[in-house]
Amino acid sequence: MMKNSHVTVLEIDCNAIAHNLAYFKSKLNENTRLAVVIKAFGYGSDAIAIAKFLETKNVDYFAVAYAKEGIALREAGIKTKILVLHPQIFNFESIIHYNLEPTIYNFTVLEAFEKIASEQKIENYPVHIKINTGLNRLGFSHHDIYALNKRLCRNPYLKVTSIFSHLAASEDYAEREFTLRQIQKFQKDADFLSNQLEEKPFYHILNTSGIINYAEEAQFGMVRLGIGLHGFGNAAEETKKLQNVNSLKSVISQISYVEEGKSIGYNRAFTTSEKTKYATIPVGHADGISRQLKNGKGFVKILGQMAPIIGNVCMDMIMVNVTGIDCEVGEEVIIFDSQETIEYFAREIGTIPYEILTAISQRVERVMIPESE
Ligand SMILES: *Cc1c(COP(=O)(O)O)cnc(C)c1O
Repeated sequence: MMKNSHVTVLEIDCNAIAHNLAYFKSKLNENTRLAVVIKAFGYGSDAIAIAKFLETKNVDYFAVAYAKEGIALREAGIKTKILVLHPQIFNFESIIHYNLEPTIYNFTVLEAFEKIASEQKIENYPVHIKINTGLNRLGFSHHDIYALNKRLCRNPYLKVTSIFSHLAASEDYAEREFTLRQIQKFQKDADFLSNQLEEKPFYHILNTSGIINYAEEAQFGMVRLGIGLHGFGNAAEETKKLQNVNSLKSVISQISYVEEGKSIGYNRAFTTSEKTKYATIPVGHADGISRQLKNGKGFVKILGQMAPIIGNVCMDMIMVNVTGIDCEVGEEVIIFDSQETIEYFAREIGTIPYEILTAISQRVERVMIPESE
């Protein structure tokens, strides 16, 4: 069947999103809040479209990394609470303007927030306190907790809505002891802060693999679901229970035939060893196909058959070997449409599915597959 649009598209399947969301919700107590993390354009998909869909599904929070990601959601009409995981101090005015909830992760950030809040005569603004418990990336350290506690008590400007931390190795069973210690430290520091606060904040520490491995020990008041929504459980058995959300598809722009001994593509990186039929596909490294997938490391599927990439990946195109495949110009090309293929590409180039997804550039058209009735 010919496709009518001759472009590369990333299809985002709402049925799979709904399935994955329900799967993770089934692991939680009824009143545990759920934040869906839609940073980096919703893991490379479409943050706004996903947020709009999830607003029909009872999600308590969206979480983004940076203020501008939250602003884009607000400008698209998203009303759900938005937690900004990594705000920077120069963002606070817009964070307040757009009703986003910042993370306060060190004293400099706290002071910057208080200054803006006092200038704008803002009281009780919802903020989230981040504690470092071993990832050693962002957050107050254990040694800060006593001083922090004094600063938060009866602070007119802010309302500590939640206290959270982030696990360093929640997917790794071999690091179970380390993780349980992180959880313990978190609970202790969070309780110390919470004890002095009139209104009790809720706690959260679990990401996707945290929900899978530590829902009993540490689901607290909320969890933060990221990659799991897209069908990856960071473990084969879990990924099997999830559905693939993102499919990258394209079409054949041109079919060519060359004799044996001809080179194809830049730097003459591939030379034919026989008469070869090959197809040129309008997707390249500027769309997120890593150059490392050159010369047979990567492949696409055409009419259900594997067609390996030949030569180098160009910025806007790849050539694939379709010798023996009965395809024509306009035929559908599937770059990936399963977790298995995404994981295969990730392994081939030494990365993780997160990076394969977030690499899909904004040039690629996004198409939402609506949820079936
Ligand atoms: C990205 C992120 C998450 C989501 O992680 P997943 O492994 O994708 O579920 C949760 N919390 C924080 C702080 C993050 O930065």
